[in-house]
Amino acid sequence: MIIVLRPDVTKKQVDHIVEKVKKLGLKPMVSRGVERTIIGVIGEEDVLRVQPLEAFPGVEKVMPILKPYKLVSREFKSENSIIDVEGVKIGGKKIVVMAGPCSVESLEMLLDVGKKVKKAGASVLRGGAFKPRSSPYSFQGLGEEGLKFLRDVKKQTGMKIVTEVMDTRDVWMVEKYADILQVGARNMQNFNLLKEVGLSKKPILLKRGMSATVKEFLMSAEYILAAGNFNCILCERGIRTFEDATRFTLDLNAIPLIKQLSHLPVIVDPSHGTGKWGLVAPMAKAAIAAGADGLMIEVHPNPEEAFSDGEQSLVPYRFDAMMKELKAVAKAVGREI
Ligand code: PEP
Ligand code: MN
Repeated sequence: MIIVLRPDVTKKQVDHIVEKVKKLGLKPMVSRGVERTIIGVIGEEDVLRVQPLEAFPGVEKVMPILKPYKLVSREFKSENSIIDVEGVKIGGKKIVVMAGPCSVESLEMLLDVGKKVKKAGASVLRGGAFKPRSSPYSFQGLGEEGLKFLRDVKKQTGMKIVTEVMDTRDVWMVEKYADILQVGARNMQNFNLLKEVGLSKKPILLKRGMSATVKEFLMSAEYILAAGNFNCILCERGIRTFEDATRFTLDLNAIPLIKQLSHLPVIVDPSHGTGKWGLVAPMAKAAIAAGADGLMIEVHPNPEEAFSDGEQSLVPYRFDAMMKELKAVAKAVGREI
């Protein structure tokens, strides 16, 4: 249920409605837009049938949300959400590029890549310190030491940091170092983790599960918003199909579809989406043309020696060349990069 308030609603009236909704055992979520303030009501809404909220001063109309996801829906908020990561705004005109190695391997390598991707135009440094590997024998990440390297490179370059958290028990630690907490594809339906990061004050980057529908993806984001964290960025990173010539199939449909269904920013990861470095730049261009708000790209100075995902990593000079090519695509669709 959404309570749309009148443009001239007073703070006192908003507080009064919020109190009333709480007394009925429901959860009110106030969203202050540029033009309107609305209150989303979560819970067993049947009680509202005997309590017509339209009668309250300040209320313009009360509308049901028919979709299973409520807070993430466009019905709940018609304007695009812009997520501010210490001044880097995700979801606005400027396309935000997050780049860096798949795994944090050493401070020297991270600093080298960080400086190069920043120079090429990336504003967020990526790198996994906790790695969700298909095999227990593969490199699992440097853990807190890797997080410290990310923090050090942030200090030296001014880049913001995005890194994955895999376990509810590590959220407090990853939060200390990261500017954006990443929930990986394999954890998209780890509901306890979603609830935990929903309590965080840091923005969340939620990656689509490789076998998740768009509806399931949005329901997972709903967990984060319902726990109180509205700073959620969605990431399309490829899904499983019958095609096995590429690692995954990047679902470009999902970009305009999610932009229609939700107010949250959508970014695209063509590195995992294709699994092949030679396909990354073409699919990055396609993603921007389709309306993506940002990109996540794996970059490694020596992919041959990478601890993980070398085959899909761009070397820095190719990343730089791609960034130059992306400018024209961004301009053609009214964006900047
Ligand atoms: C990653 O971005 O490091 C990663 C593991 O991606 P995904 O969760 O999409 O597989
Ligand atoms: Mn990777």
